[in-house]
Amino acid sequence: MRIDDDAGRFRAWAAFSPQSRIRARVWSWASADRIDASFIEGRLEAAIRRRYPHGIAIGDGAAVRLVNAEADGLPGLVVDRYADVLVIQVLSAGAERWRGAIVEALVRQTGCRAIHERSDAEVRTLEGLEPRTGALHGPPVAEIVVVEAAGGVPCRYVVDVAHGHKTGFYLDQAANRARIGALAAGGEMLNCFCYTGGFSIAAAMQGAARVVSVDSSADALAIARRNAALNGLSGPLEWLEDDVFRSLRNLRDAAARFDVIVLDPPKFAPTAQSVERAARAYKDINLVAFALLKPGGVLATFSCSGAIERALFQSIVAGAAEDAGVEVEIVDRLGAGPDHPVVLAFPEGDYLKGLLLRRRA
Ligand code: SAH
Repeated sequence: MRIDDDAGRFRAWAAFSPQSRIRARVWSWASADRIDASFIEGRLEAAIRRRYPHGIAIGDGAAVRLVNAEADGLPGLVVDRYADVLVIQVLSAGAERWRGAIVEALVRQTGCRAIHERSDAEVRTLEGLEPRTGALHGPPVAEIVVVEAAGGVPCRYVVDVAHGHKTGFYLDQAANRARIGALAAGGEMLNCFCYTGGFSIAAAMQGAARVVSVDSSADALAIARRNAALNGLSGPLEWLEDDVFRSLRNLRDAAARFDVIVLDPPKFAPTAQSVERAARAYKDINLVAFALLKPGGVLATFSCSGAIERALFQSIVAGAAEDAGVEVEIVDRLGAGPDHPVVLAFPEGDYLKGLLLRRRA
């Protein structure tokens, strides 16, 4: 549909979502555009070229987000590449309308072996769409092994595209896994909300002496253990199936201390209404984490709640440091990697925020 301003001047072409609170999602700001199969083809081509200026190499085993929805001009469409398999999420009425053209163009442009759909995110129901999962192209796939380089060291991960979270893996943390993993070399790391062990493997592969990882999901930890074996690791890794809030306290009571701590919790604030409760939860885990941090140690703390802005997150963490009685400096501000671009016109895409902090000795 065409969106005009009050004076009747063209503003944008948008997809109409009759069931959603977000009634219109902008697909183009140019009045000359026509939204059709060749438009879709062009947007996908541009998204792939943004990640691969010299052409996509589907055989290298890498894991990369190929299409990041609004930021790639395709609202509601996510395409993640795991080696030679693509996993797609069609999460808006507009993207649903072009599903066939999207699949055809992706096959043609990438030469992928298979496309698996994981349109089972909750936002799809807010659009009035039924969840959809399964093979869209090629043979059915369940698990894929991908390679992520951490400081030049290849780390292998099993990705369960059929049952894993989101499309199977947290691609947005790839660069942070490599960087924070390197900081643990020779030291002891605590990885809270470890999922399938991304940060843990990246640390152990870069020489961490000991990595304690906590997650409440037995399924995630089963894959984490397989990831350890896949990378030839055993010694330094300990896996705890537990609630992080509880295990942080247990570790504090046991007077444990770590050189590097990662806090990468799930979205504590899924809605604007839950911000206050979420703020208390973020403060709680950060407070105990500071108490577990050796002087000179680093804490990498994240929030993926869109409803909690960067400034608010920083002030929550500052409150936690104050209550813990530690002096902390900001080493860096962290976000999702370059395959998750953010555009100024869609600031909501900037959901992942992190702080890399050092406890002063
Ligand atoms: N850092 C991970 C992604 C973390 S996703 C990576 O790089 O891959 C968040 C994880 O938190 C999920 O695996 C989920 O099972 C876990 N989780 C959620 N609530 C929890 C809780 N209270 N205690 C422990 N783990 C929890």
